[in-house]
Amino acid sequence: MVYNYAQWLQSRLFPSHCRLCGAATGTTMKLCAQCLADSPWIRNACIQCSTPLPQHAENSRCGHCQQRPPAFDTTTALFRYQPPVDYLIKQLKFANELAIIPVLSALLSARLTTRAAPLPSLLVPVPLHHTRLRERGFNQATELARRVGRELGVRTDQRLCKRNRKTEPQSLLSPNARRLNLRNAFSMQRELVTRHIAIIDDVMTTGHTGNELARVLKQAGAEHVEVWVIARAG
Ligand SMILES: [Zn+2]
Ligand SMILES: [Zn+2]
Repeated sequence: MVYNYAQWLQSRLFPSHCRLCGAATGTTMKLCAQCLADSPWIRNACIQCSTPLPQHAENSRCGHCQQRPPAFDTTTALFRYQPPVDYLIKQLKFANELAIIPVLSALLSARLTTRAAPLPSLLVPVPLHHTRLRERGFNQATELARRVGRELGVRTDQRLCKRNRKTEPQSLLSPNARRLNLRNAFSMQRELVTRHIAIIDDVMTTGHTGNELARVLKQAGAEHVEVWVIARAG
């Protein structure tokens, strides 16, 4: 009750405006209900990689995952990486719009609390290389993981794995170069003591990053690796 009153008071004293349309949201949320309703939610997708599937697809996995399954077992993605979600994520990464983290992580947690499958026992944000972390000042994946972990009661470990080198942004490379770009990109920093893990990132593009990190985690003894992202490109 006290908490609700504090929230109510905060929303009256510091009303938020929607980051997309500018309308007052009436709460501390940074997105209004209308913009959320109009966002490109993923409705029907491959359970393993979250690629959109036709509405009445017979198989729950896409053709690619059936033929060459990735190292991760399932993916949870909220949105397609399309307007206006791509704008929000670019603002977060390149304009230091950290205020958008709470609403994105609350949406992800809300989706995950409704599922029947057990939750993982550890969240691992996709690591940034230390020079990129220094340039940006924060890792958006770590910020998301911390909040989602707090909301779901799951521990986050941002130091379990490290990125060995500063890889080129995947979006600038050809499909073949993307795979090579990430080869041996990650390594374990300490022993793995849990078997069910979720990797967290803001966007999944080709799935190569999640695949490479999941491969390293499985090699270290993980049995079940999920990927949780805000948006899925492609
Ligand atoms: Zn709005
Ligand atoms: Zn798939």
